[in-house]
Amino acid sequence: MKIEQVAVVGAGQMGNGIAHVSALAGYKVILIDVNQDALDNGLAAIEKNMARQVSKDKISQADMDVALTNIVGHTNMAGLGDIDLLIEAVAENFELKVKIFNEAQSHVKADCLFASNTSSLSITKLATATDRAERFIGLHFMNPVPMMKLVELISGLATSDEMFGTSKKFAESLGKTVATAEDFPGFIANRILMPMINEAIYTLYEGVGSAEAIDTVMKLGMAHKMGPLELADYIGLDTCLAIMNVLHDGFGDGKYRACPLLVKYVDAGWLGVKTGHGFYNY
Ligand code: NAD
Repeated sequence: MKIEQVAVVGAGQMGNGIAHVSALAGYKVILIDVNQDALDNGLAAIEKNMARQVSKDKISQADMDVALTNIVGHTNMAGLGDIDLLIEAVAENFELKVKIFNEAQSHVKADCLFASNTSSLSITKLATATDRAERFIGLHFMNPVPMMKLVELISGLATSDEMFGTSKKFAESLGKTVATAEDFPGFIANRILMPMINEAIYTLYEGVGSAEAIDTVMKLGMAHKMGPLELADYIGLDTCLAIMNVLHDGFGDGKYRACPLLVKYVDAGWLGVKTGHGFYNY
């Protein structure tokens, strides 16, 4: 299993970040989004974020120039015939993800590897819905992808050892450190992070403190880089809610019940930074 060409489906904050680090590591990347504006924004974000890395001397201008030539954008899956790995990074929705993989199957080589950047959904169940459960894995990048060192690697029940090894090497070739998690709702990262964020939202909902007070306590009191409400806005409140629902459904435990205030914000379309409004205004 050799990876040279990669497709990333979904050009949102995670997808453009994965395309960014893959292109910098020398892979040829096709970035796909159904929405032309989202694709244009994703490509623009990559250029802006790379320029920031150049200005901070993290990469050279020459690295950036080469990396940008490694990326092409498409609004459909035609042209995926040569890719070795497809990484899905669309919204945290099981049916949508399955639809993407099933569509991709008719465009890619039979031995193309599949990975999902899901934050919480069952890798085993996603893999089973494709024609290649042994060559399917969870490759969970952290946000913002160019800065965060971790990739959580999650094998499904049928994922082969070779697929695990190849995926680990791929993540490491992007400069990331891999932590392995078993395939249970939320894996490790969101099993721990999301209940904390949800509890912060309950703390706001019950009037224990203002958003600023809650975030200040966690930043100055617990030495977190970002407060939980600011972080929730950054992750996307729709994604936070989807993950809480996966934890709640998956474990059947009331401690994972999404805070009604989170539900209300999502109903209002207040999704955080990406819509300009969440617990804070942007
Ligand atoms: P996002 O909303 O920023 O981006 C999703 C993108 O997918 C959008 O641009 C949308 O146009 C596109 N899309 C929707 N349907 C599509 C289709 N049929 N074909 C191609 N593109 C399509 O979401 P995000 O924050 O980048 O999250 C993506 C995935 O990454 C989710 O599974 C999420 O759980 C996971 N994740 C998110 C974070 C985070 O902090 N936001 C961190 C780790 C993992």
